Amino acid sequence: MVSLFLEIIFCMGIANFAKNLLLLKAPFVDIHAHNGDDPGNIRIRNLFPDQAGEALDRAGENSLFSVGFHPWYITENPVLEDWENSLQEPANHINVIAIGEAGLDKVAKTPWEWQEKVFNMQISLSEKLGKPMIIHCVKAWQEVLKTRNDQNAAQPWIMHGFNGSMELAGQFLEAGCYLSFGEFLFRENSKAARIFSDLANERIFLETDDNGLTIKEVYARAARLKGMDMDELRETIYQNFKTVFGKKP
Ligand SMILES: [Zn+2]
Repeated sequence: MVSLFLEIIFCMGIANFAKNLLLLKAPFVDIHAHNGDDPGNIRIRNLFPDQAGEALDRAGENSLFSVGFHPWYITENPVLEDWENSLQEPANHINVIAIGEAGLDKVAKTPWEWQEKVFNMQISLSEKLGKPMIIHCVKAWQEVLKTRNDQNAAQPWIMHGFNGSMELAGQFLEAGCYLSFGEFLFRENSKAARIFSDLANERIFLETDDNGLTIKEVYARAARLKGMDMDELRETIYQNFKTVFGKKP
């Protein structure tokens, strides 16, 4: 009888221990996404300024956003003052924790000069508000690095959808940037998939962007490429999130 009693106590102990372990697991962090919340996990949903007001009005307490002008959608020669005014209000919102996606794109039809003007304006705002940036960069790596340098930007920049060489990755890390990975990790021969295992764990993020993957699938792929335990990867990326975004949430 006593031994049965002890056994029950022992089992309850194990159950509690397992429950605690479960609760202690770090949330998944999706650093750049284009759709709704992922309850229990962290997701930074990207908004364009013209849709931001409505989304922010409806936002739950734990919803997180980035807001910014994407270089593809600069369809007129921007009057910077007006553009900045329309970005100010959503950018100041407490649930908006990053500026972006913003950046430079050599494949986009948008004139280069317009892209640069809008990118520079957003960098100034990011510095002024103390909010990091989510960067969109297509075939303009050196230009983005030079801009960061010229503007003396001190906020962390997260290079979303990174797919460059190790040498390039090194340049961005040295400049104080973070690298975020998503669908390219699934392409066996992509640069991203090839360099990923050698990158410093404390400078990486993962994302779903708009490619239909779930963040869990991206984590599973990343853990396999890194030869890392899933829980360890969750903890690592959660720590990176806290490093870049402070205590929020
Ligand atoms: Zn995106």
